[in-house]
Amino acid sequence: MKILKTGGILILFGAGAIVARAARFKMNRVMQFQGGITPSLGDVDPAKPRLLYIHVPFCRNLCPYCSFHRVPFDEGLCRAYFQSLRREILSYKEAGFDFRSVYVGGGTPTVLVEELEETLGVVRSSFPIREVSVETNPDHLDEEHLKALKRAGVDRLSVGIQSFDDDILRAMGRFDRYGSGSRTAEAIRNAIGQFETLNADMIFNLPAQTADVLARDIETLIATGVDQITYYPLMVSDSARDRILRDLGSLSHRESEFYRTILRRLSSSYRASSVWCFSKNGKMIDEYIVNYDEYAGTGSGAIGYLGGICYANAFGLEEYIERAGRGEFPIMASRRFSRGDRVLYDFLMRLFALDTDLSPLSEKYGPESGRHLLLPLFLLRLSGGIRREDGNIVLTERGRYFTLIMMREFFNSVNNFRDYCRAEKN
Ligand code: SF4
Repeated sequence: MKILKTGGILILFGAGAIVARAARFKMNRVMQFQGGITPSLGDVDPAKPRLLYIHVPFCRNLCPYCSFHRVPFDEGLCRAYFQSLRREILSYKEAGFDFRSVYVGGGTPTVLVEELEETLGVVRSSFPIREVSVETNPDHLDEEHLKALKRAGVDRLSVGIQSFDDDILRAMGRFDRYGSGSRTAEAIRNAIGQFETLNADMIFNLPAQTADVLARDIETLIATGVDQITYYPLMVSDSARDRILRDLGSLSHRESEFYRTILRRLSSSYRASSVWCFSKNGKMIDEYIVNYDEYAGTGSGAIGYLGGICYANAFGLEEYIERAGRGEFPIMASRRFSRGDRVLYDFLMRLFALDTDLSPLSEKYGPESGRHLLLPLFLLRLSGGIRREDGNIVLTERGRYFTLIMMREFFNSVNNFRDYCRAEKN
């Protein structure tokens, strides 16, 4: 029995490695934005309702595993940045764009909460916003920040916790800045009920994270009663690899095992709403790229996807502040996705959201869109990732894990693209 179980894990590990390699190859090709591309929003229809993404890159502490666009906090620079950000948002308004939801990510969006409040005021007075989501860190779950966020109309607050284990928090350099695991758990308990949704962002498969540490983290989460949990696998971009090895230790190969643990242990209290998001009400998904098939990216280094065109804003803060401040779209690179790439992108987002109904894809791209999906569907079927049930495609537990790998590689390719852009600015 034990041999069978070990064999099963090895087969899954081998199949997972093949999925990761194929996904990496495909995503890195799609995310290659050649130099010399004319920065342009192209021929998108501005009046279609979309999501507005706002990026605030400042952090008071730079965590070693993080591949987001983040920079050390500097108050003067940060205030100038927020001013240009508000100007950039108004540029979208002037161009006729229509947004119904806003998502503020970082970095640390709450790093100067009064600037965030003013910016969200501009957003709400410019567009008929129905939903406001903001990311924060555990040290900002105090009365002052929570009051400001409620005044700003935040519906959904997502807190970057990563782990409750104090040794891991120390290795990440988060213990001194954001507090101990028990303090964070207490702050989460106090913040519950103050927003429509309180989300806890966690990471699994961290170096030095044992099965016991993971189990304790999950039990702590469940005990807090938090509305929603997003459990990301550790994502190792090329540039973060050395920092992770130096500060956190060697990489673990227990991803599939840990993922199964998370699925099983959370299933008693939460329903999966995506491959790595678990909600009490089963409705919200942490990734705005799933809830909206198009989004505008504002702020330095933000990535947007409009009308099949993926684009990135200037990464250099000075360049961003200057260009956005004078009312221009501060886009540094863009790429128009081919029809096949767009179909595959939408297909991956559907799988990620555990939605295997493919009819919206043929409505959007025409009946011939199916030919772009023949190979991925065949491979998923062959590997046991999907099966047919009453004529419908169903994602199996193995299929969820393969989708998690594909999404991990998707985000890694985005992170590698960010590294490329940062190198271009220097
Ligand atoms: S993990 Fe969060 S707090 Fe840490 S550097 Fe990245 S964005 Fe900043």
